Amino acid sequence: MSDTLTSPVIVAPIAKERRVVTAIPGPLSVAMHERRKQVIPPGVGAALPVYIDRAHGSIMVDIDGNQFIDLAAGIGVNTIGSTNDAVVAAIAAQAANVIHTCFTVTPYEGYIRVAEILVERTPGTHAKRVMLSNSGAEAVENAVKIARKYTGKNGVGVLDHAYHGRTNLTMAMNFKNAPYGTGFGPLGASVFRAPSSYPYQDGLSGEEAAKRTISYWEKTVGTADLACIFVEPIQGEGGFMVPADGYLNKLQEWCTANNIVFIADEVQSGVARTGHYFASESFGLVPDMMTVAKGMGGGMPIAAVVGRADIMDATHVGGLGGTFGGNPVSCAASIAVFDEIEKDNLIGEAQRVEKVLKGGLIAMQAKRPVIGDVRGKGAMIAIELVHPGTKDPYAEAVTHVVNYAAQHGVLLLSAGTYGNVLRFLPSVKISDALIVDSLSVIDDALASL
Ligand SMILES: *Cc1c(COP(=O)(O)O)cnc(C)c1O
Repeated sequence: MSDTLTSPVIVAPIAKERRVVTAIPGPLSVAMHERRKQVIPPGVGAALPVYIDRAHGSIMVDIDGNQFIDLAAGIGVNTIGSTNDAVVAAIAAQAANVIHTCFTVTPYEGYIRVAEILVERTPGTHAKRVMLSNSGAEAVENAVKIARKYTGKNGVGVLDHAYHGRTNLTMAMNFKNAPYGTGFGPLGASVFRAPSSYPYQDGLSGEEAAKRTISYWEKTVGTADLACIFVEPIQGEGGFMVPADGYLNKLQEWCTANNIVFIADEVQSGVARTGHYFASESFGLVPDMMTVAKGMGGGMPIAAVVGRADIMDATHVGGLGGTFGGNPVSCAASIAVFDEIEKDNLIGEAQRVEKVLKGGLIAMQAKRPVIGDVRGKGAMIAIELVHPGTKDPYAEAVTHVVNYAAQHGVLLLSAGTYGNVLRFLPSVKISDALIVDSLSVIDDALASL
């Protein structure tokens, strides 16, 4: 596809390997970081202050010429790899035609096409509607608005270890007020948190955990005031917890019986990441509403609320929208992402990644007792590090591995309420060779603990 690019820019190929040629961060990145401090507030963090010059597939090249294997994918955004040729071509072509009109002023086809794609690919064959926005948090906020309008109720149910964003309401929905909400209050109201399912730590069956969650909400808010609940089918920032079998299904049954909108926040787990189009499918769930974002734009900012037509149609004209939501260039990129997923069977590729990555980590666990748990699906895999012989969080070990990996050209993210989870969110197209090479670096890091 790259030969269809109209851009005159010629991009040299990037070798598919890690390559460390300076200290990490290198001198140019260190200087850039100083420059940044003059104009960017510290609140905007930097997990690894190496400044990226170019990226393709699963390799990122910094301004010092170091090459990193990318196991973060911009927090699960570059699911089909960085600068995918078809996405780049779609962006270039769309940008040459129309960049922006505002869909609520003068509409265009791309928005409708993305909506059609999501209606077809999300679980359930019922009538659906879609609205597009710019970010995951904005999608979550809109889902709350719609659920409240439809039910005439206010309460929003969320789970322990949840993460939903950084806007006022979504800050209130996060499990961790610190650091996301610290000093930024008062936060959005009518949010009710309940215990979740965390099989490794709580040992509960899906039925037991659901009973606990439901009884908590019944006591703290009551069904008469609960408009919706949000679940991440596999929790993201919280540490990639895969809930016990049947847990989410029981919650949905209770919602359906009580006029509570069951919303799956698939911002991180969605769009071909977990070996299905959406993680909800692996639990046999058909959510009333879903929020989708990270992976759907191939790196362009775009997000969606997908919901049952009767719920979505409860909104009034002018109640939903925004200047940039469903921007034409983002829509073109998103259409290309879905085309690529189907053309290259990338759902199957996520299953391949799971086999190699999770399989490698399980083998590593046998000789490294610091790995308490290996979990996740597809290209959304995590290990929880504990003090050997216990289930006590070992956050220092995660910090050590993340730093060691960076020094050796592997970009990894931490996660988890206790900071003791290493998460792997590579592109589903990452080669077996790059996975195996990354695993050897992680094993060395654990050996040098
Ligand atoms: C990242 C994330 C969000 C917030 O998305 P932004 O695009 O950063 O606003 C919401 N929910 C989940 C599950 C996420 O992982």
